[in-house]
Amino acid sequence: MITVLSGGTGTPKLLQGLKEIVDPSELTIVVNTLENDYFSGVYVSADIDTVLYTMADMINDDVWYGVKNDTFITHDRLEEMGCPELLRIGDIDRATKIQKTQLMEEYGLVRACEIQAEKMGIASRIIPMSEENSDIKIITDIGELEFHDFLIKHQSQPEVLDVKFSSVEPSEGIIDAINNSRAVIIGPSNPITSILPILSLEGVREALKNTYVVAVSPIIGSDAVSGPASKFMKALDIDVSSVGVASLYSDFLDNIVIDDKDLNSESQIKQIINKVTITNTIMNNSVAKKNLAKTIIDSIP
Ligand code: GDP
Repeated sequence: MITVLSGGTGTPKLLQGLKEIVDPSELTIVVNTLENDYFSGVYVSADIDTVLYTMADMINDDVWYGVKNDTFITHDRLEEMGCPELLRIGDIDRATKIQKTQLMEEYGLVRACEIQAEKMGIASRIIPMSEENSDIKIITDIGELEFHDFLIKHQSQPEVLDVKFSSVEPSEGIIDAINNSRAVIIGPSNPITSILPILSLEGVREALKNTYVVAVSPIIGSDAVSGPASKFMKALDIDVSSVGVASLYSDFLDNIVIDDKDLNSESQIKQIINKVTITNTIMNNSVAKKNLAKTIIDSIP
């Protein structure tokens, strides 16, 4: 068994490669729930749905959100009726979210995701990191913002001064999944808003210390490949580089995969992490995704 820690963009790209070279039934994916909330009357767990759609080959991987070739009849109608949505939810995607909201009321989020994964024919285990809702605030130069307001309404433009989130309880099964895995892969996801929330769950860092852990840096050179990770890292005084990423995981990390362009960071990282793997980490096509997945799997002792 291999456990993957995931957000909703960088790691799902890697999952597309991983599921080609590892039997999907051998994968457990622990997914960030920090940004989960109710929108337009339905529960939106964006990262979980992206992972579900990725594993079911349905993902709209132009934007890493929603379903490929979805329609927006309901979204457009809501706007015509004077009720515009903050999130642009497609019709098929909305059906997933309606079902999840209903299942959650009866069974909780973990079981709801399990049922949906089964219905989508997914062999991997997908575990939301927590049943509880997190409270996340982005402190910016224009005031305290909700995560989606920062990301969508303000297009990640404000200067970020701090990122604060509440601690939540881990879902059942996460610690066991890590303990029973021959390796844990931390995908190239936002270290602050996708990976740290998982690492801050009680018992996770301890479990990772006893398991082989390999992480892929989402930072190449001095910037993130996409999204606001570098703004968040800067706000928390973390060097925006693969060295900074390594420092966040240094208490349990066995191997960090960094991009060819960061070759000159190797010696600095080696002072804190035993092993550094250098390869192309830009996953802009299926071959690159598969090659990176294979490099990671091959590096596991
Ligand atoms: P979110 O939940 O949508 O924020 O997505 P994630 O946290 O899963 O992923 C966001 C991170 O993925 C960003 O910090 C990007 O730098 C990183 N990322 C996206 N594509 C790639 C890629 O092809 N290679 C690498 N190394 N990182 C990537």
